[in-house]
Amino acid sequence: MLKKLKTFLGRVRDSWPPGRRWKTMRIAEEPEALLPNVLYLVGEQEKWVAVFTCPCGCQKPVWLNLLRGHRPRWSVSVSAKGLPTVSPSVNRQVGCRSHFFLRSGRIVWCKHRRRLWF
Ligand SMILES: [Zn+2]
Repeated sequence: MLKKLKTFLGRVRDSWPPGRRWKTMRIAEEPEALLPNVLYLVGEQEKWVAVFTCPCGCQKPVWLNLLRGHRPRWSVSVSAKGLPTVSPSVNRQVGCRSHFFLRSGRIVWCKHRRRLWF
């Protein structure tokens, strides 16, 4: 009984908050439509760009360069469960100006995000 409860609680913790974990999708060409909470890694052999919908709700696509020798450049690592981590943080200079991290499939907002408006 206790073991079952522990297993159950473990599952809840792993999936909490519900529906907020990001997934990774590897595709050969640029996606035509973007699903929410999905990080697309685009390229055949070498992944050259990561694309996703901005998590703030503005619906704008965010493109991150992954190619060495071009700046700015991000790197993406994917866990065994397919949870993406992007580094460094994403700091949008246009539109919503969101600033956030994507770590192990979760969005972590930067504290100073709103100060950009003042
Ligand atoms: Zn946004």
